[in-house]
Amino acid sequence: AKQKSRGTISLFQPEMDQQIRDRRVLHQDLSVAIKNGELSLAFQPQGAAGHSVAESEIIGFEALARWQHPVRGQVSPAEFIPIAEESGLIVEMGEWILREACREAASWPKPLQVAVNLSPAQFMHGDVVGLVHSILLETGLAPGRLELEITEGVLIEDFDRGLALLRRLKALGVRISMDDFGSGYSSLSYLQAFPFDKIKIDRAFITNLGRNPQSAAIVRAVIDLGHGLEMSIIAEGVETVEQLAFLAKEGCDGVQGYLLGRPLPIGKYAGLVGRAEVM
Ligand code: C2E
Ligand code: CA
Ligand code: CA
Ligand code: CA
Repeated sequence: AKQKSRGTISLFQPEMDQQIRDRRVLHQDLSVAIKNGELSLAFQPQGAAGHSVAESEIIGFEALARWQHPVRGQVSPAEFIPIAEESGLIVEMGEWILREACREAASWPKPLQVAVNLSPAQFMHGDVVGLVHSILLETGLAPGRLELEITEGVLIEDFDRGLALLRRLKALGVRISMDDFGSGYSSLSYLQAFPFDKIKIDRAFITNLGRNPQSAAIVRAVIDLGHGLEMSIIAEGVETVEQLAFLAKEGCDGVQGYLLGRPLPIGKYAGLVGRAEVM
């Protein structure tokens, strides 16, 4: 048995070593990425859910981090955000992301909003309230135009601290949305305990609309639940006109997804943000 397990180890070891080495190298590269100007933001439109794309009015954009690695090319945030999280780099990177997003949004026509993702480490270990406050002052962005997206993972760690932080952030006038709702533990008590302004229904439920009746039932229930708690509801990952029509019919407030637009450098949305000169 000993030999067998040894054999198993030698089979998988090289690959695992490679993965660990990859992560280590990526971590080193990431630590200089900001300074080297390799990070940028893509912006994906968020719309008020109309019954068709033409009827869906753009209300803002979600900022999504992009890393152009000098050798590897584009590295997915699904890969580099966790590395930044574990190594603590996320605090500096998150600060850069928030500042860039707010600076950009400050130049958009007034009602347009910007949504920025806050990661757990950034939320629980940095001075997130002080940071948001100073960046709003620095960029001149009206607090009401900034929305912070957090996942429930942030709050599971420390309920009391999470609640205190959310209250202080809301006191600044920014809005808070619960990202990826339904993908984790999503206990209903969280919705009652934390002052969210918005729920983002996880893409998985939207993808499955029309494929299984359970997803439709869940989406419908989340919309009702959120509205009952005076929160607004946005669906992510909306890719088809059928999904959009269903969501509009069920009274979902917002939609985001490839149907409305992919995440792109903001210049590509110059028409939408009324800055024709960028196009
Ligand atoms: P997320 O916050 O749930 O962001 C939505 C992701 O879904 C984005 O992936 C977006 O490109 C993708 N998406 C949007 N619409 C559609 C669609 O219709 N179909 C499909 N298949 N996908 C769609 P992306 O940009 O690769 O980001 C992945 C994740 O990385 C994000 O998930 C978020 O958790 C994290 N992330 C990205 N940027 C940041 C950031 O600036 N800060 C932090 N803390 N996390 C970030
Ligand atoms: Ca998000
Ligand atoms: Ca999400
Ligand atoms: Ca997601």
